[in-house]
Amino acid sequence: MEKCARVHSIESFGTVDGPGIRYILFMQGCELKCKYCHNRDSWDITGGQVKSIDEIFNKILNYKEYICPNGGVTISGGEPLLQYEFLINLFTKLKKEKIHTCIDTSGMISINNEIKKLIELTDLFLLDIKHIDSEKCKYLVGVSNEKELNFARYLSDKGKKMWIRQVIVPGYTDEKEDLRKLKKFVSDLKTVDKIEFLPYHSMGKYKWNNLGLDYEFEYVRDADDDDIKRAQEIFNYNWNIEVVY
Ligand code: SF4
Repeated sequence: MEKCARVHSIESFGTVDGPGIRYILFMQGCELKCKYCHNRDSWDITGGQVKSIDEIFNKILNYKEYICPNGGVTISGGEPLLQYEFLINLFTKLKKEKIHTCIDTSGMISINNEIKKLIELTDLFLLDIKHIDSEKCKYLVGVSNEKELNFARYLSDKGKKMWIRQVIVPGYTDEKEDLRKLKKFVSDLKTVDKIEFLPYHSMGKYKWNNLGLDYEFEYVRDADDDDIKRAQEIFNYNWNIEVVY
């Protein structure tokens, strides 16, 4: 069982990535290639800082009185599921302490027995659907959406709570037809508590430039209130919808 993790960064008082106050661990490493990635420095799985399970667990325990009973621990990234062995280890300890566990993921992973085990230990998933259209998904993040949609269906079948996230990128993820398809897909899932729209912004551009890379979405404008309103209208306000900035 993995005793160390590669960690990109830590936020000890997060308030938007799951319910209540969250201790958030941003894991290093991601195999997707989102053109709008705001954490381009998190892709390299050999980067970040190596932290031991004891170091992380003890830090979390120091914050227990602040994050419990309404908050908990959220693992984000990068893509947290790449370090599933470490997370099984960590979440096993957290569950013994009755700490709420949440994973913020694209769900772009094959569901093997270890992933199933991790899913069992996770109270809530923030599932970032990259694109409901498979071809557009491939263009935007480098792979089709098959795995993430399967992941969503699996969570639904297993009764796992999820909040569906959609980054609203003007001209790329906010076409009416696509949002309608997304709505239909989400309607068929049984365990969605909330929809969260994340307005696209270009604040992560400097990270690409710092690495000597071009930011392809340089000329894509940030999403504004009207973009978000249009997306909300397509969902008819029938859902518990929030906007996450
Ligand atoms: S999944 Fe997240 S970390 Fe990975 S490329 Fe996309 S935006 Fe970046």
